[in-house]
Amino acid sequence: MCPLWKRMPALEFRSADARFRVYVPGATVRRLLHLCRSSGTMETGGILVGGYSATLDCARVRAASDPPTDSVRGPSSFQRGTRGLQVWLERRWASRGEHYLGEWHFHPYAAPVPSGTDLQQLGRIARTADYRCPEPILLIVGGDPAGAWLISAHVVPSGQAAVPLQRLPDLAESDFVRRSYGSD
Ligand SMILES: [Zn+2]
Repeated sequence: MCPLWKRMPALEFRSADARFRVYVPGATVRRLLHLCRSSGTMETGGILVGGYSATLDCARVRAASDPPTDSVRGPSSFQRGTRGLQVWLERRWASRGEHYLGEWHFHPYAAPVPSGTDLQQLGRIARTADYRCPEPILLIVGGDPAGAWLISAHVVPSGQAAVPLQRLPDLAESDFVRRSYGSD
């Protein structure tokens, strides 16, 4: 593995009104890029798990799932499957107290701008009681996952328009954790 990958910075995103924040650790960014590289020119995706800060304004992503094997993938479309996700979610919940936070997917060699379909899917998830996630996050990886990539973040509150989040300058993970969570 390229040594540069080991130093992947964490990403932090925030809405303009600071109502929503999302933190993605470097290890998860690395994993997302790896999964996207393995997907070639096809879209791919999965779900995100993690937790919220005590003040509930910040979602901390802890892990990204593999694409479920029953997903339907195309060069510019992706329908996430469900196979294996329930077991994975239950395991993450039981061992680490992590729960569903939202979705991730890949726009190969394209802008990480959510399509109308992407936002509708998230809107449906926000309104579906089974997900217990009225404000799901959407992370989209765009560009070249082995080179010039970009990751966008949106929050889609139930019954409201998607809120785009801006990426903040890189910050050491320890600083962020201390600031948002106290001792971790
Ligand atoms: Zn998309």
